[in-house]
Amino acid sequence: MKVRFGVIGTGAIGADHARRISKVLTGADVVAVTDVNRESAESLVHNLDLQAKVYGDGHKLIAAGDVDAVLVTSWGPTHEEFVLAAIEAGKYVFCEKPLATTAAGCRRIVDAEILHGKRLVQVGFMRPYDAGYRMLKKAISENEIGEPLMVHCAHRNPEVPDSYETPMAIQDTLVHELDVLRWLLDDDYVSAQVIFPRTTKYTHSKLADPQIVLLETTKGVRIDVEVFVNCKYGYDIQCSVVGEEGVANLPEPMSITTRKNAQRFEGILTDWKKRFIDAYDVELQDFIEGVKVRELTGPTAWDGLAASVASDACVKSQESGEIIKIEMPPRPSFYR
Ligand code: NAP
Repeated sequence: MKVRFGVIGTGAIGADHARRISKVLTGADVVAVTDVNRESAESLVHNLDLQAKVYGDGHKLIAAGDVDAVLVTSWGPTHEEFVLAAIEAGKYVFCEKPLATTAAGCRRIVDAEILHGKRLVQVGFMRPYDAGYRMLKKAISENEIGEPLMVHCAHRNPEVPDSYETPMAIQDTLVHELDVLRWLLDDDYVSAQVIFPRTTKYTHSKLADPQIVLLETTKGVRIDVEVFVNCKYGYDIQCSVVGEEGVANLPEPMSITTRKNAQRFEGILTDWKKRFIDAYDVELQDFIEGVKVRELTGPTAWDGLAASVASDACVKSQESGEIIKIEMPPRPSFYR
């Protein structure tokens, strides 16, 4: 039996996920869509040639009898409302990051899911599904580099729109590192600090760019992440784990090397959708398989909360410049 999806939000990633569900993955269909901009939902149905009903709002879509699973890809501030409604309706829900815009909102989702008594929520943190990050995790787990001591990361985008402001470097961008580094190191954060180097001329008055985020984990691992969202040259994700016995680096995306005119070239991606295209496919296929057997195994609402607690601390540090303590609440046995 196919999993029947209802998609809330048909913008960039909603449309891309609807494409992969209906054209790339197996065992699922898109049967319902909605967007505040109805035309966007209608044109998605048309462009992908979907047999899907267009709903006037997300709540009607969640209540629809033929929707088994909800895909929340609307604007971040609407996520909490739709995820809570899906849990209330007893439906599986895949929610793009952020799970909610505040840690308090994520907590309400965690509490609702625990009250429901069964996992229904998967958060769209796709990096743990990326083959490169999985190789890195294997190298650490199999003790190839000894105990990790430090991690150096960079998250660079060629450019961002004018609406992107200083806190978004944390809430929209760093949040992926906050999630994947917890998973990679099997650890939680105890402190965060954000410092601002000299600012690029390519930014605007409401965006301090670049930024350096310094994190410390419970085991004492020190992490530095450069977030540089107007780097101009490409979409470039770097991660280097320094251990007691050696260093393990995240593999570069596959690319041909060209030798020409006395120079050697390798392309660098510019589009985030292409950098993690396989990981997006695998994470959603995993969700579909989980729904089929009624057992989700992907990133949990607790992971969404943990990233949000750390993200809130980083934003506080952006404002004060201070080192902010991170106190993660104890993990409920439901998520162990
Ligand atoms: P987007 O292009 O702006 O699309 C969001 C869509 O949701 C827009 O069409 C928007 O309509 C619609 N919308 C807003 N509120 C709604 C509501 N109450 N009901 C129904 N539709 C609503 O944004 P995006 O880039 O796709 O991002 C969507 C979410 O995915 C964000 O939370 C983002 O952080 C996340 N995301 C994750 C990744 C990843 O790598 N995992 C990548 C990209 C995005 P209007 O435009 O008319 O407001």
